[in-house]
Amino acid sequence: MPSGSLKAMSDQNTPPTPAGSPAPLFTHLGHDISRRIRTVNLPVNRASSVVFDTIEAANEASAAASAGKLHWASYATSGTETTLALADAIAAGEGPGHDCRAALMPSGLSAISTALFAYTRPGDHILMSDSVYGPARIFVQGLLTQYGIRTTFFDPKAGAHIEDLIEPATKVIYLESPGSYTFEIQDVPAICAVARRRGIRTMIDNTYASPVLARPFDWGIDISILALTKYWAGHADLLMGAVVVRPELWSPLWTTVRQTGICVGGDDAWLVLRGMRTVEVRVRAHEKAALEVARWLEARPEVASVLNPALPSHPDHALFQRDFLGSNGLFSFELKPGTTPEQVAALVNRRRLFKIAYSWGGYESLIVPGQISQIRSTTPWTGGPLIRVHIGLEPVAELIADLSEGFDTMNQLGVITSPSGK
Ligand SMILES: *Cc1c(COP(=O)(O)O)cnc(C)c1O
Repeated sequence: MPSGSLKAMSDQNTPPTPAGSPAPLFTHLGHDISRRIRTVNLPVNRASSVVFDTIEAANEASAAASAGKLHWASYATSGTETTLALADAIAAGEGPGHDCRAALMPSGLSAISTALFAYTRPGDHILMSDSVYGPARIFVQGLLTQYGIRTTFFDPKAGAHIEDLIEPATKVIYLESPGSYTFEIQDVPAICAVARRRGIRTMIDNTYASPVLARPFDWGIDISILALTKYWAGHADLLMGAVVVRPELWSPLWTTVRQTGICVGGDDAWLVLRGMRTVEVRVRAHEKAALEVARWLEARPEVASVLNPALPSHPDHALFQRDFLGSNGLFSFELKPGTTPEQVAALVNRRRLFKIAYSWGGYESLIVPGQISQIRSTTPWTGGPLIRVHIGLEPVAELIADLSEGFDTMNQLGVITSPSGK
């Protein structure tokens, strides 16, 4: 609105102030800066209402948004400039060359639950890898079971043998590679080939690759699920998730998102866009530091194995090299069987740099013991206690010194003599 007409409105509608000049109409001021000033970054769009000049324009936008047309919204739950910019970036970054679409969710877990809700119906059956992120298992065993959707957990090493587990009701095969805490690499292309032949949709939790290290749509995946909370955002300062799908699968996802009102705010979306700009250099720095720490851990007498698929000692290293473009800062190590809970606590408690926390993907180093017995059913963990670390961007020598002090404290409680004689 030009300033002249604002003034005219004030003159007409508001009584003069004691000073004699018209009272400013604060609700309508300051909307007139033109888009002439262009900056490197988009502004943050904080919004609920989307405004229109005519009812025809409002109706057109409503119809387009309900139909899931790209870049249309009649209300900010369908998207704003900031959230749609992020959704575009994620679709293009996760599925280059596949014309993907992405929807944003308020956390990685909500991306998992929304995707599973969108593509299953009562009576359907899901095949889920036994190595998935624990809360994904809790969701299918809880709410989805309540809605009459069954899940069978399969050995992450199944590969093409997954075909033996397919039932007439199987609608979704849900993968995660590397597996949470245990880092098994799945033969995703082989599983996708079977699924495609049998008309079953494949979903993968692709958070690990985030987004530099894998091309899940080249593997044949239909639906990729991301915790943007991790490296996409990269600074441990927000929660967000996304579901990325091939274009022909957009409709069920969009219907679920619309009907449930799932959406994210502009500030957090803007922060993910900012994090994304540096994701490649960050992930490569995490990878380099993590490999140094992993090799140091491999040589420690207290350690039975290091579960990092980028190490030649990892049982799935060949598959990892075939399918991945690199590794990141996250891996686990197994202490010798017989290591006591008190010794585990002595190792991880009160480190100078490694903080105890469940997430990962920020700039900081984290450490957490894995409670594996609770999150495996088909392939129980039979090794020693597992410790998961996220190697942050601190100097590697300092991180190694911190862990070394932890091992010293642990060894004060007695030295484990390994059954394997290492
Ligand atoms: C962290 C994580 C999630 C969940 O993301 P949130 O944003 O924390 O809900 C899902 N899958 C994997 C593999 C994760 O590491």
